[in-house]
Amino acid sequence: MDGRVRIRVDHGLCVGNAMCVALAPGAFAHNADRQSEPLDPYDEAVDTILDAAASCPTGAIRVEDAGTGEWLFPPRGS
Ligand code: SF4
Repeated sequence: MDGRVRIRVDHGLCVGNAMCVALAPGAFAHNADRQSEPLDPYDEAVDTILDAAASCPTGAIRVEDAGTGEWLFPPRGS
């Protein structure tokens, strides 16, 4: 992996509690509807992004390797 990831937020699941914004403000920001939007480009360590994804109470965040497309979070099969 080259260190870059692609982040997706499912707005059908996001409840806007801002956990991801608090944990990884360089990678997520709220839009006018108080839903999380991934920032592109982001300025955050990948581990921090993965921690934020894992902290989302509704599982709205998916993270994949930008180079290979491999899902990094959630793990495949979950
Ligand atoms: S932590 Fe999850 S539910 Fe909360 S704002 Fe971020 S994506 Fe939305």
